[in-house]
Amino acid sequence: MRIPFDNSYAQLPSQMYTAQLPTPVKAPQMIVANADLAAILGIDPADLSAPDAAQVFAGNHIPDGAAPLAQVYAGHQFGNWNPQLGDGRAVLLGEVIDADGIRRDVQLKGSGPTPYSRSGDGRAWLGPVMREYLISEAMHAMGVPTTRALAAVTTGEDVYREERLPGAVIARVAQSHIRVGTFQFFASRGDTMALHALTDHVIARHYPQANGPAELLDLVIARYAKLIAKWMGLGFIHGVMNTDNVSIAGETIDYGPCAFIDGFHPDSVFSAIDQYGRYAYSNQPGIGAWNMAQFATALIPLMPDREAAIEEFTAAVHRMPALYEAEWLKVFGAKLGIANPVEDDRALITDLLDLMTKDGADFTNTFTSLSRDQFINRDAFDVWADRWHLRRPEDAENLMAQANPQIIPRNHRVEEVIVAGRNGDFAPFHALLAAVTSPYAPLTDETTHFARAPSKDEQVTRTFCGT
Ligand code: AMP
Ligand code: MG
Repeated sequence: MRIPFDNSYAQLPSQMYTAQLPTPVKAPQMIVANADLAAILGIDPADLSAPDAAQVFAGNHIPDGAAPLAQVYAGHQFGNWNPQLGDGRAVLLGEVIDADGIRRDVQLKGSGPTPYSRSGDGRAWLGPVMREYLISEAMHAMGVPTTRALAAVTTGEDVYREERLPGAVIARVAQSHIRVGTFQFFASRGDTMALHALTDHVIARHYPQANGPAELLDLVIARYAKLIAKWMGLGFIHGVMNTDNVSIAGETIDYGPCAFIDGFHPDSVFSAIDQYGRYAYSNQPGIGAWNMAQFATALIPLMPDREAAIEEFTAAVHRMPALYEAEWLKVFGAKLGIANPVEDDRALITDLLDLMTKDGADFTNTFTSLSRDQFINRDAFDVWADRWHLRRPEDAENLMAQANPQIIPRNHRVEEVIVAGRNGDFAPFHALLAAVTSPYAPLTDETTHFARAPSKDEQVTRTFCGT
């Protein structure tokens, strides 16, 4: 397999990473590969079905031009400072410049231990690999900035969590894997040289229009506000918005116990480790601003006048809620067919969300049908619908069809295909993947069941990191 590598992170100061080869595995086998994405990256899609493809994506065979390394970072995990993290079960194979001229990382996750593994085994089991593949590709199809999935393989080895489970590796692609936590690592150690190099790298790579750290901060905040608004519009809960899981490029990254809401409640939490609901649906915008405050703090050492920088950066972080609210209004306006929503439309949207909360109405299907059938209290919906009909433009239907996916990777469907995959049957995975990557297509006999809300006994209310 030829991958046209063009590596830049490996040229940065050496304290920013450790050269690290993946650890070979026993008997890799392809589960799935993404021909469309391969083509964008300049990889011949035909190479994906060649015998060595599984060897490459398992980390057994290192393609020419790769410079495998593990990146170091730190981060606030559930609000607690952790000074030492890093790629503990992943290696960056290298970067490619894609068909659009965008530099992209190709990373293997589940590829074995690194100096940053702490007590972990550096491996992943099949379940989270299948989850990340499905959900990241679904997010991409729904227009949400995200890391993407290039391939997934089983390793032919078992990993031990609470039980013995089949091991797997996912090859993922990102604009970069640089995180807020990457900045925090060097800032907290007083390594201003590395912090400068990192900042220059990020500006050149992701924000070439930025002139210095203050402008960088503004741009990152704007992208992140937009990203979170998109999550909210899909009923998506990331689940682990730790600063080490916040991409500087504004992409959704590190799919762990994430979930899509079925029956709506703003305080929904799925992650089994999120005991206090820090990362609940409704908390995501606030946590987003908290994360940007940490990023701002990490940039302070770059500024000549510390006091002035604190003032300037504080103001920048304080602008985030308004940016987010404006994006949120656009996102939910489109969901109701209103292309140019005004402040007065805010109440129309929040009143609908309140009705949905009272009745636990299915988030996705409420917006695709916008009919009284989704509600227990139908009279209350009718009163709301009268207001909406007055406001809704003639051509609302088109906009709504583009803003409201019919098919999302519902938690119970994802769990179902993981169970089948564990038993060696990947046909359900492929069927679900095809459905969630055409989320706006009219439903067919094959896809209708993916759009159905779970029945009471199908509901999945807990999701796990399960790394
Ligand atoms: P995450 O929960 O995915 O954000 O991971 C938090 C940190 O734990 C990261 O530094 C990971 O690299 C590390 N980590 C997670 N799982 C493992 C594992 N199985 N082995 C080694 N390190 C891990
Ligand atoms: Mg992470």
